[in-house]
Amino acid sequence: MSAAPLPAAAPGGPLIQVTLSTLEHHAYCPRQAGLILLEDGYADDAATTRGTLMHQRVHEPGHETRGAVRTLRALPVWHDQLALTGVCDVVELHHDGRIIPVEHKSGSYVPEGPADIQVGGQAMCLEAMFGRPVPIAAVYSGADRRRHTVAVDDALRRRIADLATAVRRTLSEMALPAAPADQRCRRCSMRDMCMPRLLARAQAFSQATSTLFRPSPEAAWDD
Ligand code: SF4
Repeated sequence: MSAAPLPAAAPGGPLIQVTLSTLEHHAYCPRQAGLILLEDGYADDAATTRGTLMHQRVHEPGHETRGAVRTLRALPVWHDQLALTGVCDVVELHHDGRIIPVEHKSGSYVPEGPADIQVGGQAMCLEAMFGRPVPIAAVYSGADRRRHTVAVDDALRRRIADLATAVRRTLSEMALPAAPADQRCRRCSMRDMCMPRLLARAQAFSQATSTLFRPSPEAAWDD
């Protein structure tokens, strides 16, 4: 089991619990996580509805054994020290001792993308719960119907710990992160609620007008 840097405890109290799905949202776009956490906002679109339908089977708690693998579905997981909680779509318990969480996504797999954060966090929770290393996780993509292996290495663990710290900062400061207004917005189900273009225009306008009435130094005048 690799050593992940543990976040410092909040002064005078325990760490704020963070869900693994929030880490995933924050990894995609900090503002998206902020809208969900601070404004209780969430919007579905065709892609998220497809994902929900795909998850229906794996979100029904249950288990089965096939050959040398026992499969648990919809398993709640947590990590007390890191104050993380979540639900694994699928956890495979192999007879040789390997434990592999498998996250199901309806869309395409993006290497080192937000799904890696979610399933990596699940692996860290399972390590804490079972007391065994979980160095490998997987993301099943409905787009290509393939399973993609994710290495739960030190770099991924550090990203997860850093994201958890950033989510706690959003919660404690109660400040909505700025809208990046980039290509991520095209595929974001929350763009109607977020209005990223309008925000970007307002920000550009405010930057332009902030210098309009500022007096220039005398040397800058050419008359
Ligand atoms: S619309 Fe863009 S800025 Fe707004 S939450 Fe979605 S990805 Fe983030």
